[in-house]
Amino acid sequence: MKDAERQPGDRVRQVVILGGGTAGWMTAAALARTFGRRIAVTLLESDEIGTVGVGEATIPTIHWFNELVGLDEAAFLRETKATFKLGIEFVDWRGPGHRYFHPFGQYGAPLPGVAFHHRWLKARAEGYDLPLAALSLAGTLAAQNRFAKPAAEARSILSTLGYAFHFDAGLYARHLRGLAEGAGVTRVEGKLATVARDGGTGHVTALVTETGARLAGDLFIDCSGFRALLIEGAMQAGYEDWSHWLPCDRAGAVPCARGGETTPYTRSTAREAGWQWRIPLQHRTGNGYVYASRHLSDDAAAATLLANLDGEALAEPRFLRFLAGRRRRTWIGNVVAIGLSSGFLEPLESTSIHLIQSGIAKLLTLFPDRDMDPALARRYDTLLAADMDNIKDFLILHYHATTRDEPLWRHTRAMEIPDTLAARIDHYRRAGRLMVGSDDLFRDASWLAVLDGQGVTARDYNPVADTIDAATNRAQVEQIAALIARAAPTLPGHDAALAAMLAPGR
Ligand code: FAD
Repeated sequence: MKDAERQPGDRVRQVVILGGGTAGWMTAAALARTFGRRIAVTLLESDEIGTVGVGEATIPTIHWFNELVGLDEAAFLRETKATFKLGIEFVDWRGPGHRYFHPFGQYGAPLPGVAFHHRWLKARAEGYDLPLAALSLAGTLAAQNRFAKPAAEARSILSTLGYAFHFDAGLYARHLRGLAEGAGVTRVEGKLATVARDGGTGHVTALVTETGARLAGDLFIDCSGFRALLIEGAMQAGYEDWSHWLPCDRAGAVPCARGGETTPYTRSTAREAGWQWRIPLQHRTGNGYVYASRHLSDDAAAATLLANLDGEALAEPRFLRFLAGRRRRTWIGNVVAIGLSSGFLEPLESTSIHLIQSGIAKLLTLFPDRDMDPALARRYDTLLAADMDNIKDFLILHYHATTRDEPLWRHTRAMEIPDTLAARIDHYRRAGRLMVGSDDLFRDASWLAVLDGQGVTARDYNPVADTIDAATNRAQVEQIAALIARAAPTLPGHDAALAAMLAPGR
């Protein structure tokens, strides 16, 4: 249809979502909140098939989504048994016995002239041996099991903080389901049997369930998880396999009893053939071993996982299979993929729920009319692919810059890495430059934390830092480290901060 022929009445009126995992209910809640009852949203899910049932750690972009759907933070913390997260502690990744922290928020403080880390690099080049960690308030708080929220006042050191949450993904989806159904979303229980298509356009016209219910729509969102029943099953999008860079293809997950205080961070411990996560919630701790089946059997993975828990295992380990990569196309005709149906990147930097939000945000920005302008689909594909490529490079950095010596790690250390990542590492090595693009999810502080943490050393710094004389620069860097060291012990413990948020009447 030519633009001139389009009528404003061609609006999408019916959206059908296939799948009620985190992706399905996040999408349903966001659409209901955005469109109210202007659009009828129907969600088909099968209790018998169930959901992937993991996905407990988030990054600070979660605040955007929670605000979009109008979640009250205290109610959300209570209902999803959430804890606060200041970042991720990486144990044994650079090599056995080494640990570092990837904090949310900023290093140092915003001083005029040049990015703060160049001041740190200059001070270090001139003999001031200060670890990067001393310049992060979030990292310092995490090390002391404390928590505080960022302050709006830019001159306060608290403004350099950032935070996210750990939560029970099942409870989060249930919470969102309540919101979505309350806002008019219709849930249909059942299994998809066939997908009806228009013979001319190839667009999907309806989902038909095994009991014969017919769910007609203008726009279909594939949230069917790894099965990708619409985007792959019906539309045959194709898959770009990234397992040569990210060889882990399995995970065993098990909850265990909480031991002691909750910690305001995720822990990721490198192991023989992958890594183990530890995610503290209010009522239990989530654990999992992500590993490469080429290098480790399921039994050996289960034994390692169970031998490294804080407390008693609360269930048998549950195993999941996956393949790192992304769908070659994530919007075809009137089918849009959101969540695991669009691709998978292991949870090393807790990015999957972010990618769901990112898909939702892009869909809202590019929301189509019934004619399904293909330019919108191309734009969605390009943007989502860029998001995933960027995260992929960041994950590969963790695997590549290591001195570990088991077969998996020898492979990832020696493998050829994407040119984009090689260029970033090279720029950092040469002069501490981080080369972060304006749309990149991971910003300066994240790249700096992981480059430095994994042992990549900058040989020089931005010459602009030389406009500040050495003594002044060192004194200012020292002053900020001292300010952080003084501020941290004045802030509350994580459990106390959480209890204050959960207190009745808040
Ligand atoms: P699913 O949860 O699989 O939901 C699919 C839905 O489709 C279900 O409701 C199912 O019933 C329905 N369905 C499927 N087939 C049919 C059918 N034939 N008929 C009807 N309905 C059907 N993300 C993070 O952000 N942080 C983490 O810490 C994290 N950890 C993870 C750890 C592991 C090991 C894995 C594998 C993933 C992790 N993720 C994490 C990712 C996160 O779990 C997912 O992004 C999130 O749960 C979304 O999944 P989904 O809704 O796309 O798919």
